[in-house]
Amino acid sequence: MKIYNTLTKKKEEFVPITPGEVKMYVCGPTVYNLIHIGNARPMIVFDTVRRYFEHRGYKVNYVSNFTDVDDKIIKKAIEEGVDADVISERYIAECKKDMASLNVRPATVHPQATQEICGMLEMIQKLIDDGHAYVADDGTVYYRVRSFRDYGKLSHKNLDDLEGGKRSLLVSGEDQKEDPLDFVLWKPKKEGEPYWESPWCNGRPGWHIECSVMSKKYLGDEIDIHAGGEDLIFPHHENEIAQSEAANGKPFAHYWMHNAFLNIDNRKMSKSAGNFFTVRDIISKYDPQVLRFFMLSAHYRSPLNFSAELMEAAKNGLERILTAVSNLNFLLSKAEDREMTEEEKKLLEEAKVYTTRFDEAMDDDFNTADAIAAIFELVKFINTNTNGESSKAYLSALHEQIRELSDVCGLIVDQKEEMLDADIEKLIEERQAARKAKDFARADAIRGELLEKGIVLEDTREGVKWKRA
Ligand code: AMP
Ligand code: ZN
Repeated sequence: MKIYNTLTKKKEEFVPITPGEVKMYVCGPTVYNLIHIGNARPMIVFDTVRRYFEHRGYKVNYVSNFTDVDDKIIKKAIEEGVDADVISERYIAECKKDMASLNVRPATVHPQATQEICGMLEMIQKLIDDGHAYVADDGTVYYRVRSFRDYGKLSHKNLDDLEGGKRSLLVSGEDQKEDPLDFVLWKPKKEGEPYWESPWCNGRPGWHIECSVMSKKYLGDEIDIHAGGEDLIFPHHENEIAQSEAANGKPFAHYWMHNAFLNIDNRKMSKSAGNFFTVRDIISKYDPQVLRFFMLSAHYRSPLNFSAELMEAAKNGLERILTAVSNLNFLLSKAEDREMTEEEKKLLEEAKVYTTRFDEAMDDDFNTADAIAAIFELVKFINTNTNGESSKAYLSALHEQIRELSDVCGLIVDQKEEMLDADIEKLIEERQAARKAKDFARADAIRGELLEKGIVLEDTREGVKWKRA
């Protein structure tokens, strides 16, 4: 399996720290609003990476945090006149709902920054003790960037170039830094902000230290994969490396993976420009699976453009897969339970090539675009090589194959059987007859049966109306 590593700018063979296991950390969202479709890209991409590792037999320990203390959260709390944790808890719950809609599995652990302050105090103290950090007069703790020789190794930036850029950008209040490159580990509270006690001042952590500490606590000093959107390479991930490697004395993450950005109509997503969609906006118009399928139709390192036409294309593509599986299910319900013919055995052997192609695409730095192309080839194979004569065993094997590949992509292909309108009408008539005959038990049973299938009945003056729940 090869992974493109931002650290080395190369595709490298994946060698886990512990054979058969993957320890991975994915930077999660700051929770002050409903997540937007850009935030959904890393969630879907890295959930698929996790699923593929599992498909290849690895045990994956997947940690993804919620940043629940931040200027934007505090600002929103002040606007609404509530505590910051009311805002963060609300949007964590909403984010989890969106993840479930997109079939993004919950992480092994979802740590929250505010629950991990103790570990942050410890790591900051260690950095101060070892000369990697210092305390300014007002109690702010800064990381001493020049104390870490490898600074810049992830973003491939040169310290002197960085410094040149920073000198002209020095903002007021930052003059207590020894060096413009230094960044905050702990900062004093302002009036009305949440705070924690520390040896340096009552205050709160900087953003970067949160991830270094949560990763250490749940995965250990050295991890296999650290991931997030490409905007996090600098400074967030560069700073995480400086903190973790200086404090732990070990290489931090072996592989750094970054997804490219999602744009809308070829422009950067921006609230003020009016081209901004939450996941909630999109899934009110499309099946959430279409959004997931759309995200995986491009390689995760390619910029992806969101537009109505591309979503339509994704909808049609997904439909082809769902229809093939639905046809298989129909044939399966009628198929004969007999031995496979020699011909069927031969065909199944042939069909294996699509799984091989799927795996080859995913082994090549998780090329989901090519992996989906392999699923389409399997769809075509199924459509041409199954019919009313096929045996149950043969159809089941093909069903299992396409279900397994779709499952790696997080696509649910076995849709709940929808009742046909005619069948619903027939049951409603039967219920009316039962009511007329005063057989209320039967009438209620029919109502229950329909409800189970997602059909809600309403008795109105004009007669019985029904709708899909
Ligand atoms: P944030 O809440 O801004 O820290 O973002 C959470 C995650 O979403 C990070 O991994 C970001 O890199 C990622 N992200 C934010 N905007 C986009 C976008 N437009 N396209 C892809 N990823 C994004
Ligand atoms: Zn992070």
